[in-house]
Amino acid sequence: MSSPSRFHGKSRPPSTKPHDIVEEEEGLLSGVSVEGKESNDTRRSWSRGRIVGTAVFFIGLLISGAFVRTLLRGPVVPSEYSLWHKGGELLSNGTHEFKRTVLIVSIDGLRADYLDRGLTPNLLRISENGLRAKSMKPVFPTLTFPNHWALMTGLHAESHGIVANNFWDPKSKTTFYYNRIESCWNPDWWFGEPMWETAEKAGLLTANLMWPGPPKTTSGASSTYFVPWKDHVPLSEKLEQIINWIDLPIELRPQLVMAYEPSLDQAGHATGPMSARVNKTLAQVDDFAKDLQSALHARNLTDIVDIVFVSDHGMTDTSDPELVYMDDILHDEGLEMLEHVDGWPAMGLRFRESANVSHYLNMLLNASDANPEKFDVYTHETMPQRYHFSHSERIAPLYVVPKIGYVLTTKAEGDTGMSKGNHGYDNDELSMHAMFIAHGPFSTDVKALHHSGKKPADHHWESTESNTYIMERFPNVEIYNLVIKLLGIDQFAAPNNGTVGFWDRYL
Ligand SMILES: [Zn+2]
Repeated sequence: MSSPSRFHGKSRPPSTKPHDIVEEEEGLLSGVSVEGKESNDTRRSWSRGRIVGTAVFFIGLLISGAFVRTLLRGPVVPSEYSLWHKGGELLSNGTHEFKRTVLIVSIDGLRADYLDRGLTPNLLRISENGLRAKSMKPVFPTLTFPNHWALMTGLHAESHGIVANNFWDPKSKTTFYYNRIESCWNPDWWFGEPMWETAEKAGLLTANLMWPGPPKTTSGASSTYFVPWKDHVPLSEKLEQIINWIDLPIELRPQLVMAYEPSLDQAGHATGPMSARVNKTLAQVDDFAKDLQSALHARNLTDIVDIVFVSDHGMTDTSDPELVYMDDILHDEGLEMLEHVDGWPAMGLRFRESANVSHYLNMLLNASDANPEKFDVYTHETMPQRYHFSHSERIAPLYVVPKIGYVLTTKAEGDTGMSKGNHGYDNDELSMHAMFIAHGPFSTDVKALHHSGKKPADHHWESTESNTYIMERFPNVEIYNLVIKLLGIDQFAAPNNGTVGFWDRYL
């Protein structure tokens, strides 16, 4: 092969492998890396000043409204939390009325077992007071955009359409780039109904602080408040924004807040999961969790707000991988016949129309059979069912999936720009698994029910000596249904890949 660009094909920009990672490190995650780049559509993006200004206006309404309500109905008292919330009822933190609220925070790249390093005392304390899962299983491929959209929609990648961070779509004959605004803000790419759309349908206000995904869906739905992606925003500013939303008068306050933090993933790519930088960043996000929890505690909201900490995937060390050269398998003539190469580190291959695809498939299968420890080769028909990764024309007809420790490359590319850490591998690998921690009325009720003996633990969890409840591993497509249930808006839930009754095992 004479040129790396030939191998990359049209859908893979030159040096995609290092390029993507560099971009993720530099924070071009959704193509909106600088302020003032927002489009002038009808998106409701609220500046802090606007929120405060409007808040002043509505505080008057709130005071008069609360007064009238008190006159009509008497003082508001907290409801019982022994059953799933019915939605709509007013609760009190002692001074203000609140509706049931869910705060979901994604810490990108927080591998489940990072929590066992002794560096996250605050997250562990929150989980001791609440719940924690052994790990949460990401969807395949274990990449940022497919998984953040799975968390939002409860759908596997084959159903929600974001089948990689970069991929070719044969229907529209265009390529999705996670880091280009014309792709990632175009609603046509994003299938399924995100939880914020469901909540808005149910009449709730929602707020999105940089969660990867589009500001609008094809139906025209958007979150009430939307803060677009920007890199290197200090965690203190994110905390301030979240708390500003929580402190809004009830008429303006979002009941669902989604927030995203990328620094730990960036550290994992740059220096590897075992590095000092990862440990340092881990401690920083742990402090953020403490500050967030303290702010809720100070407002007496821990029995009103459910806070859910999640991540999208884990991270594995790739500082010393064994390189698998595609040149050796497909030879120059095979590489020349490639039209599009999707994804990373797995490779979705689309050959030119004139290519003898079964010939190249056989070459790939023979190579895989000769070195089964290095990589697998799948078609839609042979893709493991557990990947839920075949029923979409966006998924390339041939997929090469490397095992951990191996990197697919070409002689021209070699290990140029390789990062020290990566993800995207088999979602059964525990190093790819994400974290789940929840605290709030949900976890309080779960524990109370368990202690009362009304709801036996079965095999779904175990409680440790420190009274930490550790749930069995579960797939992240269950999160959509959890949040919808916590908000009490089940009747509005969209069809999804979550398990019917999954959360009823706990409450
Ligand atoms: Zn990620």
